[in-house]
Amino acid sequence: MSDPRSTALKYSQDNRARTLEELKELVAIPSVSADPAFKPDIQRGAEWVVAKLTSLGFQNVQILDTGGHPMVYADLMAAGEGAPTMLIYGHYDVQPADPVELWDTPPFEGVQKGELLYGRGASDMKGQVVASIAAVEAALHAGSVPVNIKWMIEGEEETGSPSMADFIKKHAKLFAADFALNPDAGMLSATQPTITYGLRGMSYFELHVSGPALDLHSGFFGGTVRNPANELARVLGGMQDVDGRVTVPGFYDKVRELTEEERADFRRLPQNDAFYLEQTGAKSLWGESDFSAYERATARPTLDINGVLSGYTGEGPKTVLPAKAMAKFSCRLVPDQDPFEIEALVRKYIEDHIHPSVTWELKLLSDAIPSISERDSAAVQAMAKAQETVWGVKPIFRREGGSVPVVGHLQGQLGIESINVGSGLPDDQLHSPNEHLHLPTWEKEIDAFIHFIYNLGEG
Ligand SMILES: [Zn+2]
Repeated sequence: MSDPRSTALKYSQDNRARTLEELKELVAIPSVSADPAFKPDIQRGAEWVVAKLTSLGFQNVQILDTGGHPMVYADLMAAGEGAPTMLIYGHYDVQPADPVELWDTPPFEGVQKGELLYGRGASDMKGQVVASIAAVEAALHAGSVPVNIKWMIEGEEETGSPSMADFIKKHAKLFAADFALNPDAGMLSATQPTITYGLRGMSYFELHVSGPALDLHSGFFGGTVRNPANELARVLGGMQDVDGRVTVPGFYDKVRELTEEERADFRRLPQNDAFYLEQTGAKSLWGESDFSAYERATARPTLDINGVLSGYTGEGPKTVLPAKAMAKFSCRLVPDQDPFEIEALVRKYIEDHIHPSVTWELKLLSDAIPSISERDSAAVQAMAKAQETVWGVKPIFRREGGSVPVVGHLQGQLGIESINVGSGLPDDQLHSPNEHLHLPTWEKEIDAFIHFIYNLGEG
C-alpha cells in the first residue's frame, strides 16, 4: 500500500465517517435557489464550499458574482503544463422542500436510516459535490495528483442556471479546461455504473398570429377573412408529418447519425418500448419508425406544441372568429444542431407557408445547445475503467432527452466536453419529499473518482 492510488483509497476509506458528517453539514444549509427568502443560506452554501476547498490547499478560491447566485471557483494547477486540466462542475443549491408535510424527516437535516441518507440535496447534488471533493482530498493527501483541477460550483442550477450563459462566456479563460466532470447525472441502478455522454438541447418558441382587428361573429364574417387560429394550426401542423418527421427544410442537416455501437448499448437499457408505453399511459407509441422509443426520446430531435391559446374555450358554444392566436412550441435538439440555426429554419418555414393576410411574430424564448462527449476520449475511457474497477462491470453509455444548461454552455462556448456521472439512483426522489442518497453507492462513487484521477495520469 505505498503507491499514491492505494494511499488515497485507504485515506478515503479511513475518513468516510467524517466525510459523511460533512455531507450532513452541507445538507443542513437550506440553500434553496428558487425562493429569495433563502438568499442568506445560498451565501452560506457557497461559503461552506469555499471553506472546504481552502482547507484542502486550493488556490484562487473565490466567490464570483454571476449577476444571479454566487459561484465558487478554485483551482490547483500543480500537475503542470503537460498534464490535463479537469473542470469539476457542481451546484450547491437545492430545490424547495415543499410540500414539507410529506417529509418523514426534517428536509434540511441529514438523517441516516440504514443505508440511506435523507435530506433535500442529499442526492441532487450535495452528496455528489462532497464525493468529488472527498476524492480530490484523498488524492491530495496521497501527495500526487496527476491532473490540474478547477472547480465551478454554482448556486442556481435548480432555477435553470439563468446567469451561466453570459457568465461562462465572460470568464472563458478562467474556466478553460481539457474536459469537465459533471457528477450531477445518475446511475441506472446500484449495480450498473452509467456514463451519460449526450444531452439534448432546445429551441423554445412562442408564435403569435393576428388577423382581424377584433373578435368577429363567425356567421357574419366566417369565410371572408383568414381565421388566425386556423392559420396557426395549419402552419404548425405542417411542420411535422404523421410519422413524427419534422418537415422544416434543413432541420435534420446537422443531426449526428447513431453508430451501431451506440444502438447496441441502448438496447441493453431497461427503457424499452414497453417501458415508454407503460410510463405514458398512451394507447400506442408513435414516432419515427426507424428508431426505438428510447432513441427517439434521447438521440433524435423533436417538435412539440406546448400550449395553444385562442378564441373561446369556456362552457357551451360561442361562434367567434378570433382576432388572434398564440402557441408555444419547442424543438428538442441533438448534436450537432444549433438552436439559433433551427430558429432561422423555423422562421423561414413560417415565412414561406403562412398566409399573407395575417401578421405574425415568432419569439425564441429559450435556447440550449445539445452536448456530446466522444466515447473514446482519454477522459471518458479513464472514467469507464474506474467504474469497471469499482463495480466489477463495464459502464453502460446512455444519452438523455433533457438538457443541462451548463453542460451545453461549456461545450458550445468553451469547447469543453463533459463526463456526466453520479451516484444518484432512479428512486432517490430528487425534487420530491423524502429525497435520499444510497450511501453504499455514494461510497463507491468516491472510490471511482479516486481511480478516475489516477487513470487520467496513466492515459
Ligand atoms: Zn442537480
